[in-house]
Amino acid sequence: MEEAQGVKPKKKAFCFICNQRKPALKRPKTLDQICRECFYAVFEDEIHRVIVDNQLFKPGERVAIGASGGKDSTVLAYVLSELNRRHNYGLDLFLLSVDEGITGYRDDSLETVKRNEIQYGLPLKVVSYKDLYGWTMDEIVKLIGLKNNCTFCGVFRRQALDRGAALLKVDKLATGHNADDIAETVLLNILRGDIARLSRCTSITTGEDGPIPRCKPFKYTYEKEILPNLNQVSFTYAYFKRLDYFSTECIYSPNAYRGFAREFIKDLERMRPRAILDIIRSGENFRISTSTKMPEQGTCERCGYISSQKWCKACVLLEGLNRGLPKLGISRSRGLNSDHTKDVKRSNGTKNIESKQCGTLDF
Ligand code: SF4
Ligand code: ZN
Repeated sequence: MEEAQGVKPKKKAFCFICNQRKPALKRPKTLDQICRECFYAVFEDEIHRVIVDNQLFKPGERVAIGASGGKDSTVLAYVLSELNRRHNYGLDLFLLSVDEGITGYRDDSLETVKRNEIQYGLPLKVVSYKDLYGWTMDEIVKLIGLKNNCTFCGVFRRQALDRGAALLKVDKLATGHNADDIAETVLLNILRGDIARLSRCTSITTGEDGPIPRCKPFKYTYEKEILPNLNQVSFTYAYFKRLDYFSTECIYSPNAYRGFAREFIKDLERMRPRAILDIIRSGENFRISTSTKMPEQGTCERCGYISSQKWCKACVLLEGLNRGLPKLGISRSRGLNSDHTKDVKRSNGTKNIESKQCGTLDF
């Protein structure tokens, strides 16, 4: 039929990828209009490519997924078990959770992980600060207040995950850090002038010289595609797939500085979605001059954990708590290691800017 003169034909918008179905979302990473089915496919496929191209896993490996019940680790558990089946990775997957002892927060989110255990058929191991260190975060906050609590929590979590992974006898630990987290960490390390961490925070696998290597299959996955925040739940993987996750922030979360970096990256992303990937790229291309002195890795004299100092950070913090001197491990220039340090000013590799501290906690 001929079109009436002057009337524009109605545009039929189809999915940018399949060109068959109606678009259901504008993909945050590329701004392409795509349908729901193609979104699942590209989202999962990109993660599969990252896993294969970077040889994150080998057939027959036992892999623990750091599971907090939050959106990132829930989506990671779901997608990894799907891909493991679909592409025959041959992995034995486990969920590993840390119970920091935060009433009204972690106890609730652990309930989510317990449901995930059943939903995905993945065995769950929970390690608690109380069992490992004799202190819950509730008790620590009672003693020290809301300053530096995340330093204790971050250091303890890192070791707790390693200890849990050792109990599970896994070969690797996969964490749900996404592209936004990594860009944020690059920025924070620049702002803090932390050269050692800047050079390794973009590595997709870290700790190969430590007890258990860690990897980040979501290194290039945008948070907005997983699940940005409570006000924007639609059009994301977790929402579409109706995954069961926990979305409350830690009641002790005071991390204003990290929050500022986060907001800054979100602003950049609004102007230019590629900004997140570009920041990660900048971190990857960062090279340390061979003459820069890096901390030597050794082991903690007290607990045997990796440390570049006499005692690892967790042991120093713990000693401070047990002696009723909680500031002992916080100050950089004083403390238990200062008589014996190989490198006083440098961090000892356990302080935890590489992990989220913490906002909505997802390891
Ligand atoms: Fe621990 Fe995160 Fe809470 Fe800080 S915000 S106390 S690091 S769970
Ligand atoms: Zn130690």
